[in-house]
Amino acid sequence: MAKIALDELKKRDIQYILLDLDNTLIDYQRNLSEATIEWVKNAKEAGFAVYILSNTNKIDKVSTAASILGVEYISSARKPFPKGFKEAIRRFQVVPEKTAMVGDQVLTDVVGANGMHMVSVYVDPISKKEHLYTSWKRPLEAWILKKYE
Ligand SMILES: [Mg+2]
Repeated sequence: MAKIALDELKKRDIQYILLDLDNTLIDYQRNLSEATIEWVKNAKEAGFAVYILSNTNKIDKVSTAASILGVEYISSARKPFPKGFKEAIRRFQVVPEKTAMVGDQVLTDVVGANGMHMVSVYVDPISKKEHLYTSWKRPLEAWILKKYE
């Protein structure tokens, strides 16, 4: 995730960044890397409004990461459905066309963002070790990505 160039986002007129939590910001041990912390700090300093938009219902997990990063969050977002995205628009006043959703899952982050007319930024998952449910979705995502090439 730390590889995403902020000036590329600026060039595309992005002003708001929504970050997925699991496997985008943190791994399965809930570790937040220095590089990730640095990236979020740089993004905020560059003038982006940054938030976490996560499907997790584990409040302690998301609130801990959010407080380390100094950002607000929405949990139980139900991506790819509009619920959490709409909450971000209402609570954080994000403008969809100027918002980038950064995440590691096509079927939640990318599909959800595109449905809301947001820019989606697909990142490699931090960890290959995944819950069964997520692992099951991966082959389909690989197939979709292949079709996009
Ligand atoms: Mg994720």
